[in-house]
Amino acid sequence: MAVPMDQRDGWIWFDGELKPWREAKIHVLTHGLHYASAVFEGQRAYGGEVFKLREHTNRLIESGKTLDFTIPYSADEIDAACRQVLASNNLVDAYMRPIAWRGSEELSVPARNNTVHLAIAAWVWPSYFSVEEKLKGIRLQWSKWKRPSPETIPCKAKAAGLYMICTLSKDAAMAEGYADALMLDYRGYVAEATGANVFFVKGDEVHTPTPDCFLNGITRQTLVGLAKENGYRVVERHIRPEELADFEECFLTGTAAEVTPVSQVGDFRFTPGKACQTLIEAYSAAVTPQQVAAE
Ligand code: PMP
Repeated sequence: MAVPMDQRDGWIWFDGELKPWREAKIHVLTHGLHYASAVFEGQRAYGGEVFKLREHTNRLIESGKTLDFTIPYSADEIDAACRQVLASNNLVDAYMRPIAWRGSEELSVPARNNTVHLAIAAWVWPSYFSVEEKLKGIRLQWSKWKRPSPETIPCKAKAAGLYMICTLSKDAAMAEGYADALMLDYRGYVAEATGANVFFVKGDEVHTPTPDCFLNGITRQTLVGLAKENGYRVVERHIRPEELADFEECFLTGTAAEVTPVSQVGDFRFTPGKACQTLIEAYSAAVTPQQVAAE
């Protein structure tokens, strides 16, 4: 078992200052804990630089606005704080988690009088799935939970409340020996995994669900570009689950998952091949900071 998250050493940026890791605490009567009034980011640093930092920071700020709160720091300040967290913890390759939440001034449903807080932590997290799993492709089970409609929940925000069904789905899949779960949306179309987007490959075509009720991941957007650069025709459309029989390859994308080949979704089988390999390599090159030529 890894060292528990609250018993590590290092520094966590907390409301404008660096705090010793174990002292970065909040009160039990915090609005964010009781009512999920919290938004967060997952971002990775490679070679000392956070990949697409400004996109993540902007999404964090937008997610806050969607939940009707303003994070009390500018994008420049948040970016600088993220860099400070990396430097103070001597991290070069790391996973980073900024989170903003409503505080503990009042505790009932309304939250307009609650202050907004921001904390940023980073730690070493090599790969969401083990390397061994990655190479042979991971197995996914179907989730019994559906991604809700945009009229039901603010589905574009990376908000804590949207993860309740992700945790339920992933735990249920893992209890059956699968690595993750694939979720359909409220209409029955293929949506996404519990913390990653999904792509399917047929010949030189790459198909991925239209992100109209789930997160249009930053990695997903990167992969759409990389697939085109590598000669694939990218088709964003609604995909019905029975159509999975037509595809040869399948992979997940996400900041934590990066590009993870899939070998099975329920009864459908895929063989990770040339497309997975090409796009894993392309993504790996894209996230690696360009070396400044030595004089
Ligand atoms: N969907 C969900 C539910 C996620 O949690 C994530 C990870 N943030 C993604 C998709 C992928 O998003 P990104 O590529 O921006 O990490």
